[in-house]
Amino acid sequence: METPKREPLLRELKNYLTHLKDVGYTEIPCEAELFANAQQRATQPSQSPNEMAKSLTAVQKELGDCTRCKLSETRKNIVFGSGNPKADLVFVGEGPGADEDEQGLPFVGRAGKKLTEIIEKGMGLNREKDTYICNIVKCRPPGNRDPEAEEIAACNPFLIQQLLAIKPKVIVALGKSASSTLLGRTVPIVKERGTWHEYAGIKLMLTLHPSYLIRFYTLENRKAVHEDMKKVLKELGR
Ligand code: SF4
Repeated sequence: METPKREPLLRELKNYLTHLKDVGYTEIPCEAELFANAQQRATQPSQSPNEMAKSLTAVQKELGDCTRCKLSETRKNIVFGSGNPKADLVFVGEGPGADEDEQGLPFVGRAGKKLTEIIEKGMGLNREKDTYICNIVKCRPPGNRDPEAEEIAACNPFLIQQLLAIKPKVIVALGKSASSTLLGRTVPIVKERGTWHEYAGIKLMLTLHPSYLIRFYTLENRKAVHEDMKKVLKELGR
C-alpha cells in the first residue's frame, strides 16, 4: 500500500483541530458527538426562524475569509451558498466554477441555469424561496478540476454545520463528488442516482449533476433526473 504523504495529512489535522477549537471544543470529540452537538444547536426549541437563519449567518461568520485550504490562494470570492435559509430542500453541488467565483454565488453559470430550469420548470418550485443551494467546497478549484480530498476535508465541517443550521426535509446531492462526500464513500452516481439515503437524520437523494446533464443531454438522462425530482417532490408533500 502506498504511504500517504505526511504534509497534506498534517495540514488536514491542523485544520480540523483549529476548527474544533473555533467551535469551543477543548478535547477531540467522537464523530457522533459532533453531529449530536451541531444538531442540538440547530434544533433548540427556543430558536425562532430568524435565530435559525442567524445560526447560518454564524456559520458563515466562523468561515470568515477562510484560508484553511490551498483553494484560498486562487479564488476570487468564497461562494458560501444562497437561497432560503429555512428551505425544506437543499441542493449540494461540487464546487464553484468561473462565473460563481466571479459573482460569489452558487450555480449562476450554464449548469446553474440548468439547475434553475429543473427547479422551476421541472418541479414547479421557486429557486430563491423554496430552496437553498451550496457546494461541498466553497472556493473554485483552478481550471474547474475536481476538488482534492484535502480540500473537501477542510471545507466539510462548514458544510455539516450549514446543513444542520438549515435542517431541510430533503437534501439533493448533485453528482458524484457531492454524493460521495455526503455518504463518506465513493458513489457510482450513474448506478446509484434515484436512491434514498440519510444524512444526519435528513433524507438524501442522489442525482446527476446539471453539468453532466448538459454534456450528455440524452432522453434517458433527462428522464432519470425528472424521476429523481418527482421522488423528492413526493417526499416534500408537493
Ligand atoms: S474551499 Fe473551503 S476550506 Fe478551502 S479555503 Fe475555501 S472556504 Fe476555506
